[in-house]
Amino acid sequence: MELFELTKNNEDFIRKIKETDPDYFEKLKKGQTPEFFVIACSDSRVSPSVITQLPLGAMFIHRNIGNQVDANDESFTASLYYALVHLKVKKIVIKGHTDCGGVKAAWNGLEEIELVGWLEKIRVNLPVHDQNCPLTLDELAKENLLNQIINLKSHPVYKKYGQNIDILGALFHVESGELEWVTTPD
Ligand SMILES: [Zn+2]
Repeated sequence: MELFELTKNNEDFIRKIKETDPDYFEKLKKGQTPEFFVIACSDSRVSPSVITQLPLGAMFIHRNIGNQVDANDESFTASLYYALVHLKVKKIVIKGHTDCGGVKAAWNGLEEIELVGWLEKIRVNLPVHDQNCPLTLDELAKENLLNQIINLKSHPVYKKYGQNIDILGALFHVESGELEWVTTPD
């Protein structure tokens, strides 16, 4: 894709929005009050805004490989704090997905030096290898997701500032486009 195509798409985007709401960007400039804080994988096929058709301003999003909730990750922790304390989001959605390359690499023990540290973080959220109980990649992705919910519930920032905020777990199915809710609020 050439740079001019991105520019053309951007111009189309502006024109279409202004056709229905000429003041759209004036209002957007006033600030954000997103309802959701979303934690998602960086995978290019799983963009939370695209798959839910939510507009700009609806979701504050943190993405990393394997949608990891890690109390030692400064970037994640800052996003979580900002979402809870400053934006006062109403719900947190942790979104995993099928065919996750991060989960697959962690499970298979990929050893590229630049990846190994992060993959180890993912791996500790997966079950131990058991030859008698083989798990599919998609079952592993769900397992990873469920463990991120547990990680979030024990995150110091969530415990201090997010106790009344619902955590929802969702698995995006790359093969069908479906968003499957795997947990509902307690
Ligand atoms: Zn992924």
